[in-house]
Amino acid sequence: MYEQAFGEDEVAESDLVTRRGTFRAVAFHADGHEHMALVFGVIRMREDVLVRVHSECMTGDIFGAMRCECGEQLDAALDAIVREGSGVLVYLRGHEGRGIGLVAKVRTHVLQDEQGLDTLDSATTLGLPVDVREYGPAARVLRHLLVRSVRLMSNNPDKVRALEEHGIPVSVRVPLLMPPNRHNIGYLTAKRDRLGHDLPQVEVFTEQPHAADHR
Ligand SMILES: [Zn+2]
Repeated sequence: MYEQAFGEDEVAESDLVTRRGTFRAVAFHADGHEHMALVFGVIRMREDVLVRVHSECMTGDIFGAMRCECGEQLDAALDAIVREGSGVLVYLRGHEGRGIGLVAKVRTHVLQDEQGLDTLDSATTLGLPVDVREYGPAARVLRHLLVRSVRLMSNNPDKVRALEEHGIPVSVRVPLLMPPNRHNIGYLTAKRDRLGHDLPQVEVFTEQPHAADHR
């Protein structure tokens, strides 16, 4: 079940100077999409490498949407990797709306805004699956990078299981908790209560509805 190594035409890498520092940018084809791993510092043959496997979210990652916490998690993960001095961020395409695609995701937003449905019911009402994300490409690039085991920055136990099923040992899950705001509290609550994500900060927000709202 382990994915094969990349062919020469499937992968390319170069240095990438960013505001945070210089990463090694590893672009690769897998499962019909082009993905990227951003590598910081020395990770080859290392155990317990700090890793974020980030699902693409155009609205959150690029435009700073506040209805989810994706953009903040992306920033926090890159900051943590640089602070640590080494690590990998795998950016997976084709993961919009947990795999339903960008147009469908925006359709779910309409149902959430107009009918008050949550992130799960808005998908199923449209006849769409709740989560069809595939983590094989992340495992494949981590193997290509010769990462031996990872400390995975995630609140999602399913993601830990998925990586391990694809042959990447996860030595520990590192929480990546963003302060809720009034635009994403419903989304985070649904992720906690219906998708099994470990989000202890949601409880705090429920008790103090205005404390974490910086608008
Ligand atoms: Zn998002």
